[in-house]
Amino acid sequence: MQTTIYSARTIVTMNPNRPEATHVAVRDGRILAVGAYDELAGWGEHSLDERFADKVLMPGLIEGHAHSMEGALWSFTYVGWFDRMDPDGKVWDGVKTVDDVIARLQAAEALLEDPNEPLLGWGLDPIYMDNVRVTRADLDRVSATRPVGVLHASGHILNVNSKGLELAGLLKTGNNHPGIPLASDGLPTGELKGPEITMPAGKHVGMDRAFLSADAQGLRNFGRLCVRAGVTTSSDLGQQLTDELVDLFLDVTGDPSYPACLVAFRINFGMSPAELVDYTASLRPRSTERLDLGRIKVIADGSIQGFSARLRWPGYYNGSENGLWYIAPDQLAQIYELALQKGVQVHTHTNGDEATQLSIETLEAALRKAPDFDHRFTLQHCQLADEAQFRKMGRLGMCVNLFANHHFYWGDEHFGLTVGPERAERMNACRTALDQGVPMTVHSDAPVTPLGPLFTAWAAVNRITASGRVQGESQKISVAEALYAVTMGAAITMKMDHQIGSIEVGKRADFAVLEDDPRAVDPMALRDVAIWGTVQGGRIFEAASI
Ligand SMILES: [Zn+2]
Repeated sequence: MQTTIYSARTIVTMNPNRPEATHVAVRDGRILAVGAYDELAGWGEHSLDERFADKVLMPGLIEGHAHSMEGALWSFTYVGWFDRMDPDGKVWDGVKTVDDVIARLQAAEALLEDPNEPLLGWGLDPIYMDNVRVTRADLDRVSATRPVGVLHASGHILNVNSKGLELAGLLKTGNNHPGIPLASDGLPTGELKGPEITMPAGKHVGMDRAFLSADAQGLRNFGRLCVRAGVTTSSDLGQQLTDELVDLFLDVTGDPSYPACLVAFRINFGMSPAELVDYTASLRPRSTERLDLGRIKVIADGSIQGFSARLRWPGYYNGSENGLWYIAPDQLAQIYELALQKGVQVHTHTNGDEATQLSIETLEAALRKAPDFDHRFTLQHCQLADEAQFRKMGRLGMCVNLFANHHFYWGDEHFGLTVGPERAERMNACRTALDQGVPMTVHSDAPVTPLGPLFTAWAAVNRITASGRVQGESQKISVAEALYAVTMGAAITMKMDHQIGSIEVGKRADFAVLEDDPRAVDPMALRDVAIWGTVQGGRIFEAASI
């Protein structure tokens, strides 16, 4: 029974009884005590480890909405607009023109030995390039003989070259589907939209099983990204989670060197409500120290920037038709009722406020039939909720995970195009959520935006858009509130607040090891606080050598 006492410049505990300390004692991967050295030494024999003497320790950061697919994507070529760090710590410059996209793909192509191996890029976001459309002729410049594809940042659109279209059986006239736009010659432009088209076509350009995250290397890469971001626990919010996939997760996270705890949610697709709830409940006992199972993710609507979210009146600012329901209301009701009966937690993706309203009303009705005083059903994204909706959520015992990064990445588009100035300013209303007593966290939805809770906290504090405007002054939250949101806040939404989220006796020894005190820097510099690495379950992981 070894005890190690770590010294630090400061320890920010998130425990109001002892908000700051200089030392923390760790035994068996758990926090034995926090305080001054003399107090901790009272626990008896120990070793003093001073490697963090000039660092700042925080509770390990918790990402409440990400996808382990972020790790898998780095096996493919990044062609996004923004600079982005890969699992090795290399920062890839954002590409700003179609020519740059082609050049990066050509460079990747030159490294491939097998002439038939597909080449896949990811992260393309034409919204920043004056909405220019990439064509199959563009991608034919990368290769005329090898299938080439580029997936958009949204994940909903895929561009393929002529070879890719040919292999998918689409390089012909007479295609008649809104997801397959045609050029003037009657052949597809190469842009493919919507899962029913992109999934079958994507197989031919490299969007296989590995791409969808269900491979060991992708999970390992995701773990390394977690260390670089100071994350010790992350959700994997929506996996098919077959028995086979659970075995893979158990195998990879069971490795003694795996650096994070994954909280894997079973997505609602492909099973009846009763099967979904029973199967998910049956996974719970298989949970381990680094794989937490037994929760459901439901998707209720699409995305706002893709105009597929369900909005209440008056709808989209630019007059777009209302979005899509991804679940039938009676199915949602069945899932909620059965899940409440069986004690299975449900997180529901609602982007538009009509989807949020459906979820709130459905849960209220379900609670009448199956009361549960601590269900913590959580709305994910919930980007357009107004004060009345947050008030209702608070009273019903719901939690929320708001998409703070959206202000930066798509805030300008929301202001000018999707929902208009008034609603854009109250999107992801962190202030209202807290004021209405709704336990709240904020998220990246990696790989939609990069994993990085300090960046996400920065976004919630400053509400700066990519063009540099402050959007929604009155919804800003303080640095202290944002740091709470990415530690305790996330733990509460996943019902893990008794285990993680603060540096406090009895909890898992999970720390983010920082070079600076995030409370002491200019709030605009919060995203720049350097991360040395993490401690997870008492094990030390340095980002520079992960
Ligand atoms: Zn997501």
